Amino acid sequence: MSSVAPNDIADSNEATIREGRARARNVIRDWDLKRAFINGVWRDADSREVLDVIDPAKGDVIGAVPFMRTSEARQAIDAAHAAFPGWSRMLAKERAAILRRWRDLLETHQEELASLITLEQGKPYDQALREVVGAIAYAEWYGEEAKRAYGQTMPATQRDRRVVVQKHPVGVVAAITPWNFPLTMVVRKCAPALAAGCTVIVKPAEDTPLSALAAAKLAEQAGFPAGVFNVVTGQPHPIGEALTGDPRVRMLSFTGSTAVGKRLMEQCAATMKKLSLELGGNAPFIVMDDADIDAAVAGAMISKFRNSGQTCVCANRIFLQDGVYDAFVEKFVAASTAQTMGNGFLPGMEIGPLINRQAVAKVERLVENAKKAGATLIYGADLPGEGHFTRPLIMTDVPHVADCFNEELFAPVAPIYRFTTENDVIELANRVRTGLSSYLYSRDIGRIQRIADQLETGVVGINDGTTSHEGAPFGGVKESGQGREGGHWGFEEYLEPKYLNYAL
Ligand code: ADP
Repeated sequence: MSSVAPNDIADSNEATIREGRARARNVIRDWDLKRAFINGVWRDADSREVLDVIDPAKGDVIGAVPFMRTSEARQAIDAAHAAFPGWSRMLAKERAAILRRWRDLLETHQEELASLITLEQGKPYDQALREVVGAIAYAEWYGEEAKRAYGQTMPATQRDRRVVVQKHPVGVVAAITPWNFPLTMVVRKCAPALAAGCTVIVKPAEDTPLSALAAAKLAEQAGFPAGVFNVVTGQPHPIGEALTGDPRVRMLSFTGSTAVGKRLMEQCAATMKKLSLELGGNAPFIVMDDADIDAAVAGAMISKFRNSGQTCVCANRIFLQDGVYDAFVEKFVAASTAQTMGNGFLPGMEIGPLINRQAVAKVERLVENAKKAGATLIYGADLPGEGHFTRPLIMTDVPHVADCFNEELFAPVAPIYRFTTENDVIELANRVRTGLSSYLYSRDIGRIQRIADQLETGVVGINDGTTSHEGAPFGGVKESGQGREGGHWGFEEYLEPKYLNYAL
């Protein structure tokens, strides 16, 4: 029997990573992803300055995009404002046809897009491919939805009157997107906005601008007229101020942290913009005594570790009822410590890096705090030795006073809390200021409905660790934001009703 020496495995892994990175770098080179897209023109910053893009799995520079500021953001607003009358008056079926071409191009190029996501964001390649499939689903849904901006007629209160309600696009939309789903978040905002007849200016996260530029390349090929779809890259501050301060921008669609969301909301107040805000979560993952433990462990693995724990719907607080505590912990620890962690281009990797050094520092602070408060720590896979990784970690018997009870970890770190009664866990789940997603495992239909009714979140996963569906209304309550993305709810966000009152 022959055995493979560890050095040979390391060499072959390095070769696989090199090939994967080369594929992604070819996309950057062949698609020329180094300029922003304003008014149908690929442009440098006025200053010619650039912002480096880093591979979080290696920590090296993989590209650079224009470092734009206020003046370029204003030029994008000029373009989107000028393009709005033509785009909004186009027939809905004409807009739908362009959206369908965009959807088809996303599908044709799904492997290139997935490589790019793995390179700039770090998630394992198969998860990146699933992200692209999600983006395609949104483009498809809203291409179809474009034709369904139905209005209404309603009975008048006088015989010689008629009442008609029409739907009109909101106008120029600013879309500020995060780095955790660098392609899907762009499509989830732009597809409904464009379908409704709005024009869009995207400001992608500075950590992951390349996927947004790739989406713009395909949008250009799909045939969106100049100025309808713009991408401005650079530092958030000046661009955000220009977008939120200009009265011609009629709506802000933002996904990101609650702190930045509040700040942008304030900035939008002066010009009374419409807002769609998808902000932080702090999801409770509740397992009742009567739950199917294997299903609950499988759900917690997906909910906690997908995208290295960097999703706003991640299980951030796992609550186990007394009767299942030990059995769940045993199985969950076995499953989570067996996970593989490493470069996303290596086949079979389950956990990739965190996005940047600050993210690693934040989770280290929260873990240290929980440890001091009395939590027990059980670590999984070793660190790969380069890049922005943090080890998968289970923390048991975490006291409620630990900072991670109120703050999102955004890392592959799972804090576990114990509870005794149904009422206890409802109170604990709702004790925080955010309310995006929650998860509930039980086999008692009455208990499920009773608890789900009382959970203060916009989404509830019942006996399921994933909740993603392009047709469903995704969004939060409390400080997790306002508005919904997905389905006709996500379409309505970009439409204003106009009530016409006729005297005959
Ligand atoms: P996270 O903490 O997950 O990185 P952020 O809320 O900081 O989330 O970032 C989400 C998006 O908001 C990114 O595109 C980022 O560039 C942008 N952003 C952050 N601060 C501002 C700001 N002051 N003005 C406009 N956009 C901002």
